[in-house]
Amino acid sequence: MSKVIGIDLGTTNSLAAYVKDGVPVVIRDDSGDGLVPSIVSIGDEGTIFVGREAQRRLLTSSSRTVYSVKRFMGRGIEDVEEDASLLPFTIGGERGGVVRIGIAGREFTPPEISAFILRELKRRAEDHFREQGEFDFEVDRAVITVPAYFNDAQRTATRDAGRLAGLEVLRIINEPTAASLAYGLDKKNRGTIAVYDLGGGTFDISILKVEDGVFQVLATNGDTHLGGDDIDRLLTDLVIAELGQDAARAFTARETPETVQAIRKAVIQAKWDLSDAAETEIRLDSMPGIPSGYRRRLTRAEFDGIIHPLIDRTLEPCRQALADAGLQPTDIEEAVLVGGSTRIPLVRRLVHELFGRQPHSDLNPDEVVALGAAVQADILISGRREMLLLDVTPLSLGIETLGGVTSKIILRNSTIPASGREMFTSGVDNQTAVDVHVLQGERELATDCRSLARFRLRAIPPMPAGLPRIEVRFQIDANGILSVSARELRTGIEQAIEVKPSYGLTDQEVERMLIESFEHAEADFEARLLIEARNEAETVINATDKSLRRPDFDMIAAEAFEPGERDRIVKALAAARLAMASPSRDEIQQKTEALNHATRHLAEVVMNRSVREALAGKNVKDV
Ligand code: ADP
Ligand code: MG
Repeated sequence: MSKVIGIDLGTTNSLAAYVKDGVPVVIRDDSGDGLVPSIVSIGDEGTIFVGREAQRRLLTSSSRTVYSVKRFMGRGIEDVEEDASLLPFTIGGERGGVVRIGIAGREFTPPEISAFILRELKRRAEDHFREQGEFDFEVDRAVITVPAYFNDAQRTATRDAGRLAGLEVLRIINEPTAASLAYGLDKKNRGTIAVYDLGGGTFDISILKVEDGVFQVLATNGDTHLGGDDIDRLLTDLVIAELGQDAARAFTARETPETVQAIRKAVIQAKWDLSDAAETEIRLDSMPGIPSGYRRRLTRAEFDGIIHPLIDRTLEPCRQALADAGLQPTDIEEAVLVGGSTRIPLVRRLVHELFGRQPHSDLNPDEVVALGAAVQADILISGRREMLLLDVTPLSLGIETLGGVTSKIILRNSTIPASGREMFTSGVDNQTAVDVHVLQGERELATDCRSLARFRLRAIPPMPAGLPRIEVRFQIDANGILSVSARELRTGIEQAIEVKPSYGLTDQEVERMLIESFEHAEADFEARLLIEARNEAETVINATDKSLRRPDFDMIAAEAFEPGERDRIVKALAAARLAMASPSRDEIQQKTEALNHATRHLAEVVMNRSVREALAGKNVKDV
């Protein structure tokens, strides 16, 4: 007999669940508590404290106590510098290598710290099964959840953590998918689901599609620094500001860690109360900095007013995710609430308004992911069916084309594995090599995107400009590895390269690049149109020039031209050349169009002759 548990390894809280008599249940301790704070602390003797005990040590041994380790999973030091600077424990490691956390004179990698949390969950599960008289073996297999946007390195780190804790990780599944499973949404024939997850330190919105029991992530968005912690901070600041009516008191309060901690605890309790009650009281007994204690009534209306701007910040990522998925809010058929902070009535109301429907909230939002992981675990061991889970690319991928313009080949939020291809040609005659510059980003100009790789397709036989047919193919495999190949179709010459698209790119970088692309969208678009207009003008000018300089041009003109035609062409050509220097796209386009018009007849005549010549040449060769 064997049991497989489902684990939600969260930034703030972790927990485990299993399926009992066909129903998923959370594994709780004697006091009925299922959540284990994702905190690890190392004692003087090297004792490892996990969960509530570690949480108590946050205050007394802050430099030996690690929290939010999930932010560091599968990341390099260069990815996490900003986060690291805010934490009381030391974060180090070599550039290009794994992050290392220094505590108590030892170094730990993030999977090692996470493994302490997993080991605690495993121990709880074993105790639980033993007490139930159900099961007296080691729990050695698990399904673990991760955010939908986790990349391959982050998923691998999670799997490693499981292994370090003595758990074989049967499957890593996405948190929003797990939440949907817990609500049985896999049983719908087809549907579109929005999973809104507001936890302690992070906000994630995921848009999923379910079809015949298969979930597909259509889009993800969010804010890696937005959650319940921010609410706690606002309320703590409020209390300290009010103490500040006596400035000395406020100062002492802020400078006394025990007092700040006590204030935090009191405001968190008040926050929780207000999820069920219309009003509460924040109470602090006498302590350093607050000799006579502190009492304050807080109504839900006032609380809502304080947190409203913060909760509003979750709405834009939701709209963006919908837009990326090509959907309207009304297209969402099921909304699911995840994360402890969605217990707040204001959050529920805003989500309800956004999607125009009542979100699923019957299950505890901070337990629903673990419940879904348990459902998945049960599916796996009973061999009922396989769940296929797919991922998306965070940023668009493409190549640089003529004039420094980005040409996107795989759009951001495409489901991976993904592939795309586009045809290009050479810009000048007799070009024997073409440079392929692989880019990542949303901006229109190559210089504003991130350069991923460059390679050169060589040995193309000399051909007139525009004749080579170069196919560039992008392929992202299930692990997020990008391969790019370029092939000249007439000759079959090919060149390929493998690129790691997400390597070293931080979420902040991704976020910044996205924000920039929105801010600059209009200017970029205009710049791109101008470049395209110039490219187009240049092509027409060169083609005309070439025709005019044909040895047989005078003959063609004499045979086929109308009176004044030659003059009109020469004039239009001069005007187009002049317009090339103009900053006005309209001007360039007008003159290009005029030149196109003036040379249409000439082009026809030249084309007919070329075809005749080519056929003649072919005949000669074939003989
Ligand atoms: P994570 O997914 O980040 O590990 P959780 O889903 O467990 O986190 O959410 C933790 C957050 O939920 C904390 O900020 C906590 O204060 C908040 N929270 C828990 N219960 C309530 C409640 N009843 N009302 C408001 N916020 C709550
Ligand atoms: Mg969570």
